[in-house]
Amino acid sequence: MNFTSEHDALRKTVRDFVEKEINPYVDEWEEAGEYPIRDVFKKLGNLGLLGIQKPEEYGGMGLDYSYNLVAAEELGMAKCGGVPLSIGVQTDMCTPAIARFGSDELKRNFLTPAITGELIGSIGVSEVGAGSDVAGLKTTARKDGDDYIINGSKMWITNSPKADFICLLANTSDDQPHKNKTLIVVPMSTPGITLSPHLNKLGMRSSETAQVFFDDVRVPQRNRIGAEGTGFMCQMIQFQEERMWGAANVIKALESCIEQTIEYCQERKTFGQPLINNQYIHFRLAELQTEVEALRALTYKACELHVAGKDVTQLASMAKLKAGRLGREVTDTCLQYWGGNGYMWENPLARAYRDIRLVSIGGGADEIMLGIICKTMGILPGKQKG
Ligand SMILES: Cc1cc2nc3c(=O)[nH]c(=O)nc-3n(C[C@H](O)[C@H](O)[C@H](O)COP(=O)(O)OP(=O)(O)OC[C@H]3O[C@@H](n4cnc5c(N)ncnc54)[C@H](O)[C@@H]3O)c2cc1C
Repeated sequence: MNFTSEHDALRKTVRDFVEKEINPYVDEWEEAGEYPIRDVFKKLGNLGLLGIQKPEEYGGMGLDYSYNLVAAEELGMAKCGGVPLSIGVQTDMCTPAIARFGSDELKRNFLTPAITGELIGSIGVSEVGAGSDVAGLKTTARKDGDDYIINGSKMWITNSPKADFICLLANTSDDQPHKNKTLIVVPMSTPGITLSPHLNKLGMRSSETAQVFFDDVRVPQRNRIGAEGTGFMCQMIQFQEERMWGAANVIKALESCIEQTIEYCQERKTFGQPLINNQYIHFRLAELQTEVEALRALTYKACELHVAGKDVTQLASMAKLKAGRLGREVTDTCLQYWGGNGYMWENPLARAYRDIRLVSIGGGADEIMLGIICKTMGILPGKQKG
């Protein structure tokens, strides 16, 4: 990646925001199980940070994906995963399809206010019975005059308790599972939408998550993103940016775990000498740092080719897989060297251990990434190349 002075300036803006507007409040927000998302989004919107890659015509900065990557990386310096996740949902998970495939009206009504931070978005793909198996989802949107009538529910929806809209994937026909889905923007104030109480999560405590129920929810068909029946394809494309964002967002978080562990092991003495003097420990930390550099290189390569307009399905899936696997390895190993202190709830390593665990599950579990990689390698049974 060739980073320019513009990338550096953006990096600094995001870093300063994290240091001044997020980190001083993280402990309080984690304890409360929520954060002042409207205030934070307004401030991010004022800086242009919710629309880095979005078209200038709709209020975005009109920059390429490499700038998004830089922002995702710097958000990883937040002292929790929940707030960055909630921001990432807005910038890289629920708005890319609107920007790419949405009508001018949808962009003006939802994308522009999402970029300014006036509207909070969420993405509704997963259901109780269909997380990994997206094609198997059951929520329906049936035509009635000029409207759709939506029935069903979506599970584990980040931001939903405060969201103004949900970018919803629903079945709009009885056609084959990959051809019967449509993405629809649904305002959360529409009658018939109800939410479960906040879900009690292992980590990402400051982000709010709930189940969303749809009971005869009526929305105009013009809220559809792109052509009817293209939702599965649109969502798979939207997933590419979500997965690169996920990989980029853990790089600095993992480096921070390693740095904090080095400092701790330099201070903490056992058997008359600092823990860091044990070759087993300093070699292991060096190995983990090497792995993080490998993740960075892989993620940058995926981003570079994405910016060049190439299909990065394989590389984005590899980066997401590596981020999830390495996230577990780094947080688990580092926590171990903090001993009993690391096992305490408020310990920074304990929080990282809980938060980063999500990377192997959300946005497509590790095994789903392996399936996609196998498919692109032509080694899935019955789907071999040649
Ligand atoms: C905190 C949090 C926030 C989330 N936010 C959102 C959100 O905002 N919007 C949204 O739509 N979703 C969201 N999700 C849902 C998330 O994307 C799903 O949990 C994820 O896709 C996995 O689906 P599942 O939980 O149904 O697991 P399942 O599909 O039941 O799979 C369970 C496990 O089985 C394994 N597995 C599954 N299929 C295979 C296979 N074919 N081969 C081998 N192993 C397999 C994997 O290890 C997987 O983890 C969120 C989840 C969490 C926990």
